[in-house]
Amino acid sequence: MAGHPALVDLRLRHASAVRSRLPVVAPSYGDSLVPRSGGSEGSAFPPPRKRADVNTRGLPFTSSVRQYRSVNTCALCGHDKQLVKSHIVPEFLYTDLYDSLHSYSVISTDPHSRKQRRKKGIYEFLLCCDCETHTARYEQYASRVFNGGTELEISDEPNYLTVGNLEYSRFKLFQMSVLWRCGVSKRPEFSATQLGPHGENLRRMLRDGRPGASHEYGCILILPASYDVTRQLVYPPESVTLEGHRCYRASLGGLWWLYVVSSHSKSFPYRQLFLSQDGFLRIPKEARWSTDFILRLGQDLKRDAL
Ligand SMILES: [Zn+2]
Repeated sequence: MAGHPALVDLRLRHASAVRSRLPVVAPSYGDSLVPRSGGSEGSAFPPPRKRADVNTRGLPFTSSVRQYRSVNTCALCGHDKQLVKSHIVPEFLYTDLYDSLHSYSVISTDPHSRKQRRKKGIYEFLLCCDCETHTARYEQYASRVFNGGTELEISDEPNYLTVGNLEYSRFKLFQMSVLWRCGVSKRPEFSATQLGPHGENLRRMLRDGRPGASHEYGCILILPASYDVTRQLVYPPESVTLEGHRCYRASLGGLWWLYVVSSHSKSFPYRQLFLSQDGFLRIPKEARWSTDFILRLGQDLKRDAL
């Protein structure tokens, strides 16, 4: 087959939820994949400002679909209840994936997986209604952080975007809930997230509304040089080792998310990049993985398309 349609789809904004194994080849890709600085509707963050900024573009978040089925054990509270259909990755992080038909492409580096289109993100009967409502509070807040509707102090520096005035508890619990949902999901797209005993720790913290210390399941957000590509890509968490710590990295909402899932995360050398308890988050611009990762992914998809 001439060309490699999967990569073409990325460039045509038919976004991609990619699953399965880690690509391994890294060809050269050029310098055109740079983050947009002007901001626009649907961008991951409001335009960078050097002063307090009030974003008033509304709340595009839509809560999960209320579809019930028979009684089963809720993954969060552990009670046998009717479960609702819960998303794994919040719907608002798919915003840039949808085309004019409100659908997106699913491609995979697994050569045995067929390309398909979806109208919605990935859902699963996971939580009871009470627990879904409980965690939705964190997501509603995070949606306002990403899409506008809450006052943030944003400072644009050469190597960092510093976001202030974040609510530590709600934003931290939101980040933890995304990782935990990926870990408890039985969907094959999230099979690489194996949290072991950390899954139970996260469950208890989420159930009790305890965000923990900054370093406990801390998450670093990175604005990649390849933002124009990653904003069209949902890549589920995959395990990597960094500085001797087990980490999970994912691409969600255009940013890289690097979770440190380690019992000795207090000694993680880049812990100053975790959300601080006074509500500041430093977001590094670019990281060595970002462009390399996109290149490897493109090469892997190309190889499977041939
Ligand atoms: Zn529950």
